[in-house]
Amino acid sequence: MTPLLGRHRAVMPDWLSLYYRQPIELTHGEGRYVYDADGNRYLDFFGGILTTMTAHALPEVAKAVSEQAGRLIHSSTLYLNRPMVELAERVATLSGIPQARVFFTTSGTEANDTALLLATTYRRSNQILAMRNSYHGRSFSAVSVTGNSTWSPTSLSPLQTLYVHGGVRSRGPYAQLSDAQFIEACVADLEDLLGQTRGQVAALIAEPVQGVGGFTSPPDGLYAAFREVLDRHGILWITDEVQTGWGRTGEHFWGWQAHGQNGPPDILTFAKGIGNGMSIGGVVARAEVMNCLDANSISTFGGSPITMAAGLANLNYLLEHHLQDNARRVGGLLLERLRAVTAGVPCVREVRGRGLMAAVELVKPGTDEAAPETAAAVLEAAREGGLLLGKGGGHNTAVLRIAPPLTLSVTEAEEGARILEKALRNAQ
Ligand code: PLP
Repeated sequence: MTPLLGRHRAVMPDWLSLYYRQPIELTHGEGRYVYDADGNRYLDFFGGILTTMTAHALPEVAKAVSEQAGRLIHSSTLYLNRPMVELAERVATLSGIPQARVFFTTSGTEANDTALLLATTYRRSNQILAMRNSYHGRSFSAVSVTGNSTWSPTSLSPLQTLYVHGGVRSRGPYAQLSDAQFIEACVADLEDLLGQTRGQVAALIAEPVQGVGGFTSPPDGLYAAFREVLDRHGILWITDEVQTGWGRTGEHFWGWQAHGQNGPPDILTFAKGIGNGMSIGGVVARAEVMNCLDANSISTFGGSPITMAAGLANLNYLLEHHLQDNARRVGGLLLERLRAVTAGVPCVREVRGRGLMAAVELVKPGTDEAAPETAAAVLEAAREGGLLLGKGGGHNTAVLRIAPPLTLSVTEAEEGARILEKALRNAQ
């Protein structure tokens, strides 16, 4: 086989964000490991891109896909297919939203697009509240609610977006506040913002833990406190669970549950992990909200039987093997190990995380200045050592992101932490 390296430049866009100076050509995977075209093996500490929820090439998913491929690959939403309805039933129940209805898409971006369409139609308003430093996808409306200019290259937004404080605390004017003070300050900011809007606001869209934003979590209860304000104004709460769903954060099945004292959100979006790499996204909403569209709608590939069969097999595996518990247990140990191996490393500003969603934030030694070059060097050094890591996006490229498959073992967690320690020391 001729190598692919370099050939992509003639046919693919320059703005692709490929990792590594010499991009890796992946050929296959197994469990928590992937292999490249040169036969190198890597421990995948980024779980694809939080997409490999259970394991690479999980036999149960591969079997479901191949059996379904032999029967019916595609049907579109013009017709019903059994895996689609069964997965919708499971997701509706798991979502915690009463009278939930589910619509399947093919990506997280499209799921958020649909959520925004529902909210703006339901509330007859194009004003949306979004969090600073958030990421919600690549489409025109998803970049319009993305709170970081490096991901939103256009200012020609179809929505009027107002950005709220609260997604990130570690830097900025509220950095020194206690949890309770932080929540109070963010609620006051929200109230102040709402006092300045004209007409009604449709919804707040928020990630319970900011993903591309560097795995930063607001204190538990922030969105519950927001909810009281939103409810007073009739504003919908959209929780973007594209990264935080399916037990990844360990303690909760959904990220919103850390904030859910005032009940479930009105709309929930999901994607990434549920398909174990197959392209599934979706929206869950109360019936009244989901049914507000008075136009006919169709998704050509959403709810496709082959992806739905993969999703069902993957979800069954997740639940039968109690992977949320594994995320809490192994994630907790991993965080401890990461803290231990990074202690005293001058470029490490903070190690943080929830379940199997951990981050190591890097700075220039002796300063509080982000060190994206060091993060890039650590990624290269870790690759040399046989470990794949993720990075934050936009203004957060100095944050190393760790989100392995939820089947990660303690031994693998230790192996990854050891390679990372060496990579950090080599990259200084
Ligand atoms: N929402 C969140 C929180 C994400 O992290 C992402 C992707 O990283 C998206 C939406 C967009 O999902 P996709 O890349 O599947 O379109």
